[in-house]
Amino acid sequence: MRKTTLSLLFSLALLSSFAQSAPTKDINRLTPLNETLAPLRFLASDELMGRATTRPEIHIAARYISELFRSFGLKETQGTQDYFQIFNLPFITAPAAGSFVVGNKSYTFGKDFVQTRGSAIQLSAPVVFAGFGSTADLTSLDVKGKIVVTNMGENDSTRVMGFRRFMNEKQTRLKELGAVALIERFRQPAAEWEMPRNYFSGQRSRDPLDSLLPVFLVHDPAGELSARVKNSSAGTIQVSGNNPINITAKNVIGWVEGTDPKLKNEFIVITAHYDHIGVASVPKMEEGKLDSIYNGVRDNAIGVAGVISAARYFAQYPAKRSILFIAFTGEEMGLLGSRYFAEHPTIPLDKIVYNLNIDNGGYNDTGRVNVIGLGRTSADADLKKATAAYGLALYGDPAPEQGLFDRSDNVSLAAKGIPAPSYGMGVAKLDANIMKRYHQLSDEIGDVDLNYILKYIRSYILAAKYIADNPVQPTWTAGDKYEAAWKKLYSKD
Ligand SMILES: [Zn+2]
Repeated sequence: MRKTTLSLLFSLALLSSFAQSAPTKDINRLTPLNETLAPLRFLASDELMGRATTRPEIHIAARYISELFRSFGLKETQGTQDYFQIFNLPFITAPAAGSFVVGNKSYTFGKDFVQTRGSAIQLSAPVVFAGFGSTADLTSLDVKGKIVVTNMGENDSTRVMGFRRFMNEKQTRLKELGAVALIERFRQPAAEWEMPRNYFSGQRSRDPLDSLLPVFLVHDPAGELSARVKNSSAGTIQVSGNNPINITAKNVIGWVEGTDPKLKNEFIVITAHYDHIGVASVPKMEEGKLDSIYNGVRDNAIGVAGVISAARYFAQYPAKRSILFIAFTGEEMGLLGSRYFAEHPTIPLDKIVYNLNIDNGGYNDTGRVNVIGLGRTSADADLKKATAAYGLALYGDPAPEQGLFDRSDNVSLAAKGIPAPSYGMGVAKLDANIMKRYHQLSDEIGDVDLNYILKYIRSYILAAKYIADNPVQPTWTAGDKYEAAWKKLYSKD
């Protein structure tokens, strides 16, 4: 009798220690292929019309996520309703018409001319060309009262994605010098022009810099604009019919209580943006068919499927810490949902000790995971253990010069001090293969390697599990630019 009890106890102990050492078994069981990828297929379906923050279909996506959260039994935080954090976003409608005329050439709004800052305007003024609009370019130039035309970007680079970073600086510098408008030359070919053209031809987020100085982009692939400006004394800008509006937006938020009596007062937050960029104004032939819907499979239906699967898993197997799950809106229009949450958190920010965001542009290496922010927080060992368990190599930022860390939702929380890297699919090199899909109509489920996606999502859940169970509060690496904010947030000074 005694012997039997002992051996029973022994095998129970063995069983439980096995269960603890092998969370992969439970993760795998709760993430069968079709169930795990159902949210991906649904969110990326044509019916959701590209999940633009400004389109009605985004609310179908939000409702779907919230009802899944409810079905898993997630708790609601203060200030949400049906798991929705509902708020208004200040937007401006697209201009009804607009043009920029210089010499005998007229650039037309929505075709080869868009407005990136400011509202309706009618203006004729002298024009001047100012190189890249750098401090050096402007030292000996009189721009007062003038329309200033510059090359887009900061130097001779052809980088498209970073142009907005330099725009702010130029805009501010030119305003101080008394310029009346800034026009940037976008010199890349038509395929690359489509992205900003489409974005700025629709409703866009109002920006504090809107009132500073109007800013425009002109598509000038043949490089004729600078000569035209040099040979002309004046230019005319006309933009009309763009009006301020408010957009109703929703973050979807739920949580699972931790099991450890002490650690459960701390939260790990698992985040992904569920919005994408909507519908192209002009359909395009893509891989043999006419298409106009940006399905956003990689960016970021896959990430949302990851958060949903993590919620399903942790609802059944809670971690030591509590876990908060957020599907953010408005990321593509400037991290709007995550910024709103960071300013209006439904859980006090100093209770959130870590954010593991998940966001993707594409992948070209199915043997790895790239964590944007690897090496910057103390959670690297947990990340490594989780990826290794799924046979995936762990790498950091594939293109540090792109500033990816500061371009997804994780930065909204990082700026508040919360250690917050972003989990990404395998990118060996940020090359043409990635750009072929990134914010393109061809970001479809088509040839996505579903078995890799499944592994990637499972490793994400396991990483969150290890971090949530780790008794030591995560930190930034000493000297990180967000370390001071960390000390302030958690009163570590
Ligand atoms: Zn994204």
